[in-house]
Amino acid sequence: MNPLELPFSRTRHDRAAHRRTETGLLDRLRQESTTHALVLHRKRLAVVGADAPRAALLAPAGLPEGTWVYLGEDDGSTYVALLLPDDVEDPPPPAGADGWAGLRELTAGQAEALAADEDPTVLVHGLSVEAVALAGWHGTHQRCGRCGTPTVVVQGGWARHCPVDERETYPRTDPAVIMAVVDDADRLLLGHAATWPEGRFSTLAGFVEAGEALEDTVRREVAEESGVVVGTAPGDVVYRGSQAWPFPASLMLGFRARAVATEVRTDDEEVTDARWFARAELHDAAAAGEISLPGRHSIARALIEEWYGAELPGAW
Ligand SMILES: [Zn+2]
Repeated sequence: MNPLELPFSRTRHDRAAHRRTETGLLDRLRQESTTHALVLHRKRLAVVGADAPRAALLAPAGLPEGTWVYLGEDDGSTYVALLLPDDVEDPPPPAGADGWAGLRELTAGQAEALAADEDPTVLVHGLSVEAVALAGWHGTHQRCGRCGTPTVVVQGGWARHCPVDERETYPRTDPAVIMAVVDDADRLLLGHAATWPEGRFSTLAGFVEAGEALEDTVRREVAEESGVVVGTAPGDVVYRGSQAWPFPASLMLGFRARAVATEVRTDDEEVTDARWFARAELHDAAAAGEISLPGRHSIARALIEEWYGAELPGAW
């Protein structure tokens, strides 16, 4: 498990990647009684349960047409996902499901069960994260990136093949760094984004650029967004854990970073305010509602609370 408590990273099933190339895999699995299907439409999952909905696990027989992908196996059962066509407007939930829900909503409703490592919540949530990430990729990669020809789904839904230039493309993930920047007085740097409601603060973050090492991304993003300088000595940028964030295709890589120059000068475009918080100051501001901190399922929250050493009050 990750060193941080990260609900999106909780998973139990075996992706069994070696099975993806089996001939006729999905056609065969759809006939088997041990196969269970998650159904998605535009990255929303068919769900059961009203209070804390979770992805419905349905028998494949009788489900409508769509793209089938192989997710993996666990304890004698096999799991697949059915991606309904994007161009269908408002499809009804399949028989056996109560409605549709997005992954953030599901995660929020299951946060306690995930934190307690409860089954089958962990199993179903892990499958849901995988399925949503794949659904997002299929939705935006219907054509070959080189010649524009419609591509064909192969390898159990884990690749798309261009029949013209025999090129295959694979699901991509966009790395992003997110960092708890701490100074030598043990204060934490948090920023306020231009698009956020007043009082909302979180750790700085940003996408890794082409040809860039993670440590350099951390230093560049902190400098761009806050003017603060992160050190280059060994140990000044330390990896803490990661969390899939398929909105649409990110992988959040969490770091602790040490500031060597603390003067704040925000870019006033992405980040309009950045402040240093001492421990008691952050706790009291959050408790009083003067600031609000990131949601409890985010890696930002985990990084902040890891620095603080305990849970903090309030959340978005
Ligand atoms: Zn092509």
